[in-house]
Amino acid sequence: MTQAASPHGADVVCIASWNVDLVSHVPRPLARGETLLAQNFDIGPGGKGSNAAIACARQGARVALVARVGDDDFGRMGLSLWSGEGIDARHVEIAPGERSGVAQILIYPDGDNSIAVAPGAGAGLGARQVEAARATIAGSKVVMASCEVSLEATLAAFRIARVHGVRTLLNPAPARPLPDELLALTDVLTPNETELLTLAGLEGAGLEEGARALLRRGTGAVIATLGTAGCRLWRGDGASLSVPGWRMEAVVDTVGAGDTFTGSLAAALARGETLEDAMRCANAAAALSVTGRGATGGMPSLAGTRALLG
Ligand code: ATP
Repeated sequence: MTQAASPHGADVVCIASWNVDLVSHVPRPLARGETLLAQNFDIGPGGKGSNAAIACARQGARVALVARVGDDDFGRMGLSLWSGEGIDARHVEIAPGERSGVAQILIYPDGDNSIAVAPGAGAGLGARQVEAARATIAGSKVVMASCEVSLEATLAAFRIARVHGVRTLLNPAPARPLPDELLALTDVLTPNETELLTLAGLEGAGLEEGARALLRRGTGAVIATLGTAGCRLWRGDGASLSVPGWRMEAVVDTVGAGDTFTGSLAAALARGETLEDAMRCANAAAALSVTGRGATGGMPSLAGTRALLG
């Protein structure tokens, strides 16, 4: 289905975090005050917002970012990455004298990790930058955000979206308590299992109970991502649907699977797919994403996703 072009040229607007991942592989967790030789080091793009925007663009959507980067090499790395992915960075603010966000990641031999995120310039993303993108948001089909950006920025964007009938999608990661106003402004929430129960304040309860509690607070629909088990949808009208996971043969790593899910869901909704079809598409795209390295290495094209769906 083809939809008319929006006047400001974006199907999906992402209120986005941008971090550069600095990844070292170490033999064991460090003791306080200790220095240890790492086995290797890698550097790659990260930030849930940027990741989801890239997944969304690869699914064929015209994506615009609202973000804030430092006036440094890492900021320029983001701008160059987004340009290569065809993402509109007109609303990305370059903060003079500030550093871009970084995530220092230590990976242990068993695959477990420790992460310290310094949001840098991203911490200054608020209502002002969102307001500057008002026309782009108003002309779009979907606005998405994660909890890596400020509540102030997300609330400002979702308020504009609601006034203009634009769908809102929130990946509530990392999980933190959310105000009722934000939950009520969210059309689709995409937590993983832990995030769902944390948000609902019901650790130890079942997913169904947690999802229903969030729906009662005004969220339009909750889609829990369930790792290898796929995902499950609960709608405000009482309907519910489970979509099984894909069994992938060559799993490389699951980094960015949740971001791929959210970005692909946004692209499918912007194309006019039903929530159920969009969820199947996101589930397939996220499954493909685990067959490539790092957050963006496995993010598929729309053609690749459709080939898996058959
Ligand atoms: P991450 O933090 O690794 O990005 P997450 O915890 O936010 O992930 P998950 O529920 O683990 O989210 O995964 C998101 C989606 O990715 C799942 O709903 C599923 O569609 C897909 N997925 C994840 N892991 C696998 C896997 N091993 N095989 C197939 N699909 C997977």
